[in-house]
Amino acid sequence: MRLKDIYIKPKIPKKLEKLFELSYNVWTTWDKDAVNLFLRIDPNLFRKLNFNPVEFLHKIEYEKLQKLAEDKGFLYELKNVWDKFSQYKKYRGYYMDKNDNKIYFDKGDLIAYFSMEYGLHESLPLYSGGLGVLAGDFIKSASDMGMPIVGFGLLYKYGYLNQYINEEGYQEEEYVENRWYLKPIKEVRDKENKPITFEMKIKNYKVNVKLWKIEVGKIPLYFLDTDIATNSEYVKSITDYLYVADRDKRIEQEILLGQGAIQAIKILNIEPKIYHLNEGHSAFLIIERLKKMMMEDKLSYEATKQIIRESTVFTTHTPVIEGNEHFDKDKITTYIKDDIEKLEIKIDTFLVNGLIENSTKFWLPALALKFSKYSNAVSKLHQEVSKKMWKEIYGELDYSEIPIDYITNGVHIQSWLSNEMARIFDRYIGPDYLHMADKSLWEQIEDIPDDEIWAVHKTRKEHLISFIRNRIVDKLEARGAPSTKISELSNILNPEYLTIAFARRFATYKRANLILHDKERLKKILTNGKKPVQLIFAGKAHSADKMGKELIKEIIDFAKEYDLEDKVVFLENYDINVARHLVQGVDVWLNTPLKHMEASGTSGMKAGINGVLNLSVLDGWWPEGYNGENGWAITAGERYQNIDMKNETEANQIYSLLEEEITEIYYDKTGAYYPKNWVKKMKKSIYSICKDFNMHRMLDEYFYKSYYPAMSQIDLLEESNHKEIDEYVKQKDIIKEKWSKLYIKFIDSEFEKKDVSTGENAKIDAYVYLDNIDPSLISVEIFYKYDENGYKVIDMEFLEKYEDSILKFTADVEVKGYGLEQYNVRIRPSHDMLFESNPEFVKWYFE
Ligand SMILES: *Cc1c(COP(=O)(O)O)cnc(C)c1O
Repeated sequence: MRLKDIYIKPKIPKKLEKLFELSYNVWTTWDKDAVNLFLRIDPNLFRKLNFNPVEFLHKIEYEKLQKLAEDKGFLYELKNVWDKFSQYKKYRGYYMDKNDNKIYFDKGDLIAYFSMEYGLHESLPLYSGGLGVLAGDFIKSASDMGMPIVGFGLLYKYGYLNQYINEEGYQEEEYVENRWYLKPIKEVRDKENKPITFEMKIKNYKVNVKLWKIEVGKIPLYFLDTDIATNSEYVKSITDYLYVADRDKRIEQEILLGQGAIQAIKILNIEPKIYHLNEGHSAFLIIERLKKMMMEDKLSYEATKQIIRESTVFTTHTPVIEGNEHFDKDKITTYIKDDIEKLEIKIDTFLVNGLIENSTKFWLPALALKFSKYSNAVSKLHQEVSKKMWKEIYGELDYSEIPIDYITNGVHIQSWLSNEMARIFDRYIGPDYLHMADKSLWEQIEDIPDDEIWAVHKTRKEHLISFIRNRIVDKLEARGAPSTKISELSNILNPEYLTIAFARRFATYKRANLILHDKERLKKILTNGKKPVQLIFAGKAHSADKMGKELIKEIIDFAKEYDLEDKVVFLENYDINVARHLVQGVDVWLNTPLKHMEASGTSGMKAGINGVLNLSVLDGWWPEGYNGENGWAITAGERYQNIDMKNETEANQIYSLLEEEITEIYYDKTGAYYPKNWVKKMKKSIYSICKDFNMHRMLDEYFYKSYYPAMSQIDLLEESNHKEIDEYVKQKDIIKEKWSKLYIKFIDSEFEKKDVSTGENAKIDAYVYLDNIDPSLISVEIFYKYDENGYKVIDMEFLEKYEDSILKFTADVEVKGYGLEQYNVRIRPSHDMLFESNPEFVKWYFE
């Protein structure tokens, strides 16, 4: 026997219907006035329900709502929020076209966005960490900026783990079932009000998929769900857990996300122009798009591949190769063989797209890279790492030329800025920053009086500390701890002390315990009589990660053994709520990854916009963010390869910075009742990080670097009825047939004959065998590299036929710089599209 869930709508007084409607839009969770509106109704209940506005209105007593419906003050505030929301929805986004005309977005510019996770709010546990929070912030900014985006994801029954620390200091985890009917999400229904479902095939079984929708301001986010009665128990469980460990189930999730979302797009009757893959998990959508275009539109594989490339944007986030999604080739084959063979493509021909040299593994990001003309890493440093990591995909190209761009991450300011700081922004900056990416908006930060910034910071810190104390007391009470212990710990942390947070996933490369390297020295710093310091840790270890869990235990043991429980605190169950409290309330944000392991990181940005100063290894976004005045850089380990040396020197650098600089500035209140130089740094941090690392800036960059050029190109291709694609296919056939025969016979280069100095020209002639192919199909180029990332490609001019089928080309290189430089001569197809998507068609002179 089982009782079936049914949803019963609560009774809502007529005058509060708009409140009920507001509760279903995620806008309500980030707009400060909307949050305050809900908070004033019953702050304790609202907090207890994880700030979930929907559940809140379902749990509150009807009498209370009736009373509110007669409360003039409340109704006035409700009307204000409602009007603000209506205005917000009316805002029309625009962009500047190539001729600097202002063009309003319209429906035809639709961009579909795909992500395995979305971190929108603590009441919607559809995320595990940074990737999801980034996707959530991205969608929110798209709404703010009026950019036409539609998102797709999976609806997980259990979401991600909840973390508990047991009495031994060891992490335990629990998965809590989501009750979707009490959350800001709705089933998508058809005209007869029936939930929309559709059927798809994964391997050999039928999968019924139900669609859900979350309204994020103006943006619809659709979620696919297999937990419905018409599915077998096995199929139901596909959407149980985010990042499920079972490899078959993981592929099934990813096929559901990729192929399922493309089918959903058809059912929803929408037509995206651009497809943006946030990480490789959704790469199977490429197969579904191939199917659609080849079977319905009767296009060839080559033509379809090009159209997909022109309309696909891929963002890579994972700087460690093993962390990138991959499966055994044979396993993948069992899942995709039918689909691929239906298209009359040999399975091996297709699999090549996901293989890296000699590997038996199929890599989803490789597939995504091959089918995306626009791909990017998430910080400048991560671009370098990504280019090196995926080099093999780009055949014989030099590292510097690999077409992986970078668009550094950002954060959605409204979601992470404290209430109090937002009020200051409203007064000094005005409301434009809510919709726009304009960097000059932020210059006013300098004008904000120091004491206002300090007052806000103090308030937030007190708020954070009482948040932590309440949590700890709740937990101890629930555990039945003795009252002496409870009262002892109910006063931990002191709002006057310099407070440092380390909050991130407990993966070993993040080195949560770096600061514990020399425990005696750390204890001295923490317990300094004049300049005390306290530490707050938070973060989850992956359930299978024993080492990560040991790190948590090490911190908790340190606090106990060194009698520092009032100064070193581990805050359980890091999530968006905990993150928000921490980034708004501490003084210093500590970040100690091993350099090159962090793609970007965003928590430091959230902290920075609130005036929290970053103390971080120069990794991820920080090399772009750090300017010498807005925080500190940990650099001492960069000289060493050896990990122990790195740990030793970097820990020592952190201690010295704390002892000699950070605490000095923080506790120096000469000439004022607040630390003047500290506040100065806070303002530098707020200004520089709001300006360069807000999500609107990031979206703007995606638009102008990827979406806009892709849209223009897709429009052109369609207008010409794919003429250029046809030409591509034609030329590819010719090149493919002849390629193995073509070669550069010799070159005559002034570089080899005389000394050339900077500013001078060096002449190079190349003699190329083209096997009677039309020379206009081939480009002969000098590749000249004057530093690690700086290069020039010089097109060589056809001069004359030299002898039978050998042609002479020539060009001058203008020399830049001096010292050791590099060059080579190459041939490649002259058709750019052909060159870009077929890196195997490059031949160099010096091999
Ligand atoms: C911002 C955020 C992250 C990502 O932060 P990192 O800087 O990458 O560690 C992870 N989890 C939560 C809950 C966040 O809010």
